[in-house]
Amino acid sequence: MARLENRIALVTGASRGIGRAIALELAKNGAHVLAMARTQGALEELDDDIRAMGRECTLIPCDVTDYEAIERLAGAIHHRWGKLDILVANAGVLGSISPLAHIDPKEWDKVLAVNVTANWRLIRALDPLLRTSDAGRLVMLSSAAGNRAEMRAYWGPYAISKAALDAMARTYAAETKNVTNVRVTSINPGPLRTKMRAAAMTNEDPMTLKTPEDFAPSVVRFCAPDWTESGKVYDFPTDKVLSFQGPA
Ligand code: NAP
Repeated sequence: MARLENRIALVTGASRGIGRAIALELAKNGAHVLAMARTQGALEELDDDIRAMGRECTLIPCDVTDYEAIERLAGAIHHRWGKLDILVANAGVLGSISPLAHIDPKEWDKVLAVNVTANWRLIRALDPLLRTSDAGRLVMLSSAAGNRAEMRAYWGPYAISKAALDAMARTYAAETKNVTNVRVTSINPGPLRTKMRAAAMTNEDPMTLKTPEDFAPSVVRFCAPDWTESGKVYDFPTDKVLSFQGPA
């Protein structure tokens, strides 16, 4: 039997890049994927690829900052499946690369809304469904950007949002660890060949980077019922599961 057979998995940002590769990998491993993003055409192409594997998925054309839609989605998942086994919180935006003092307030709000608040709203809406699963798994796509000993200049909104996301992951892990079957993992994929990375690093040759398809298989174990740790960070470039290290 496939490792994720009959597991229900919501993947945000599934229309391209890392989220699309994870959605395909989870489907390959037997999960029924609920694929969320704004670009309907790209979701339909994903649907074609998943069906070609002999699997099925459900498309959710939706903006993650449409918080009422997230509430409705939770109701629909409850009605149809009664539980959610896997949430891959992947949708994210880079925002502008610019000094903190020059960032447009609207741009700041957008990065924080997509990268932080939407993920909290997903947890808020889906927590009962993850707890109802016999092995609810939350995977959050983090980044080294929020955790550098020496922060990189000009990456403010993105780095700050990812540091907040890591705190969210560890908070939710602490709240669920000994009292539920929910387990939480933050993942740093490292630099991967995607549209976001190309926008961030205009002078880099994308062909020197690993691809989302290289990375996606490593996500499966953190979604599987036999993964028992919570509140850890998986670092793909070093293939290590790390504990958080705060200042001494
Ligand atoms: P990407 O190619 O830009 O893809 C981003 C995905 O997020 C798209 O599917 C996009 O879909 C979706 N998305 C963005 N805003 C959305 C919104 N408001 N509502 C719904 N979906 C939205 O980025 P990526 O490189 O694959 O990044 C995926 C995640 O990995 C992000 O959280 C990123 O921070 C993290 N990460 C990436 C790298 C890297 O090197 N690539 C490194 C570290 C961390 P639509 O536009 O169709 O909505």
